[in-house]
Amino acid sequence: MNGKPIGVLNLQGGVCEHIDHLQRLGIDARPVKQEKDFDGLAGLILPGGESTCLARLLRIFAIDEIIIRGFRKGMKLWGTCAGAILLAGKLTGEAPHLGLIDIEVQRNCFGSQLDSFACESSVPKISPDPVPLTFIRAPKILRVGEGVEALLRMDDFIAAAESPEVLVTVFHPELTGCLAFHRYFARKCGLHPHEEGDLDPTWDKTSWTKLSRIK
Ligand code: GLN
Repeated sequence: MNGKPIGVLNLQGGVCEHIDHLQRLGIDARPVKQEKDFDGLAGLILPGGESTCLARLLRIFAIDEIIIRGFRKGMKLWGTCAGAILLAGKLTGEAPHLGLIDIEVQRNCFGSQLDSFACESSVPKISPDPVPLTFIRAPKILRVGEGVEALLRMDDFIAAAESPEVLVTVFHPELTGCLAFHRYFARKCGLHPHEEGDLDPTWDKTSWTKLSRIK
């Protein structure tokens, strides 16, 4: 393990998959839920799940304020799918939640859960190889504001973007065998994740989650 930890918001959604990916990279990764868990985090991942549910829980337990305080102190943020919805400054037709990155997002933009799909694409800033992409009842990023860079444009939407402090992806890198986005985020947090050559060679990339990790 090296450096400060990265937390994964542990309220609902895909938590252990993110933790597993970060740990494979040698990062101290942990589920966070209570106020004390957020102390000293280099970064925080807001996972995919259901943004309406996550937003309610954030408000009920006043975790929204804890995240905003951490962000102001330099904690980097990455939202995947529902997490990106929570971070967006503007939501088409709905009130925004945390509003920490200047993007406009429209929820459920591909249709129902049955319209979920996987593909791959080149994302030059993240990896020299094509990156596998998994979209699950995904939103679309319709627009990015000043100071926000589109990392991946597809058809009529933006699938990944970042500001200096916040990364957003509308797909789920934690559900693929590719560690490139997690490595990128760890570096954005000032950490030193393992290079490809330093990874455990026994890692079975077809079964990459260890669901028993979260107590
Ligand atoms: N459709 C969900 C929402 O609107 C997001 C789905 C996901 O995170 N995979 O919150």
